[in-house]
Amino acid sequence: MSNTPLLVIYTGGTLGMLPSDTGLVPGHDFEARLRGALKTLPPARQASLPEFEVLEYPDPIDSSAATPADWQRLARDIAGRYADPQKRYAGFLVLHGTDTLAWTASSLAFQLQGLDRAVVVTGSQLPLEAGGSDALGNIEAALRFATLPGLQEVAVCFAGKLMRGVHTRKWHTHAFDGFTSPNYPLLGEMVDTAPVLYPSRGLDSQQRGLPRFELPDYSALDDTAVVRIALWPGVSARLLAAWLLDDSVQGALLEVWGSGNIPEDPEILGVLAQATGEGKLLAAISQCPHGSVSIGTYAAGSGLLDAGVLSGDAMTPEAAMTKLVHLVAQPLSDAEKRQRFVVALAGEL
Ligand code: ASP
Repeated sequence: MSNTPLLVIYTGGTLGMLPSDTGLVPGHDFEARLRGALKTLPPARQASLPEFEVLEYPDPIDSSAATPADWQRLARDIAGRYADPQKRYAGFLVLHGTDTLAWTASSLAFQLQGLDRAVVVTGSQLPLEAGGSDALGNIEAALRFATLPGLQEVAVCFAGKLMRGVHTRKWHTHAFDGFTSPNYPLLGEMVDTAPVLYPSRGLDSQQRGLPRFELPDYSALDDTAVVRIALWPGVSARLLAAWLLDDSVQGALLEVWGSGNIPEDPEILGVLAQATGEGKLLAAISQCPHGSVSIGTYAAGSGLLDAGVLSGDAMTPEAAMTKLVHLVAQPLSDAEKRQRFVVALAGEL
């Protein structure tokens, strides 16, 4: 075993699932199953795989059950081993369910800022042992990317594509090519069986003087600390107030129209202004999957500015929500939270 192996962390997800009477459920003994499956690869491909150790969570989950506390556990497990003086891991690979994979990848990026090696997250649409599964291919590709010294950030590897974690979204319920990065180009791709990184797109060329991990206690947050509201035609101030003015709410993501528009309704704007006036962190992104918001282009959006709502630019909902969670969990002043929301912490803007 090399003294700089990768660390593979198995958290659950379809990739490790087994059939049960009620449908697929997270399976155990994943290391043995994975090592057995890798032995089915052609000998030359087996021989060129990096060495790895496996940390298998004893309680693997369907990622639809994940909470901020799960993001926190994962980041702390990686951070603890990252700094281990006895052993240097060359990189980290997180095996995760696809349903909330983009959320976990985004959250990890905010908690593990300034990585000097890779944290790659992958999953699959079919279980490892299912006929024609994409699991082994995704894991093989992710292992190869995770060992590249030029990859120094949280990335998602899926169907041969390598995407910045904080720009990734699940885009198809069952197609193998199930993830997309709507507003940032691919970081790399598998070409045959070789991982190819595209230089200049990676965070390694953009971050200096790091790492600076931030591991706030997400589990201390109330489960309503940050809410997500997609506006709909006819949305009422009364319903918005019920969520935004609730005492336990500290932040909210508003998914507004087009380039940053909402109804020009004084009552709605009043609720937003009251919420931000109470120190709540409110941000807006577009319901369009592509492009950024540019609040104030239309009169119909300028009220957002007056109400103190921040621009989420072209962030994905997953990135914007996990960033809000990350900021409200920290003992920062309201001004610091607002300032940090609008600057890039992990390549998300
Ligand atoms: N429900 C599964 C999960 O997210 C779906 C998958 O992994 O593809 O854990």
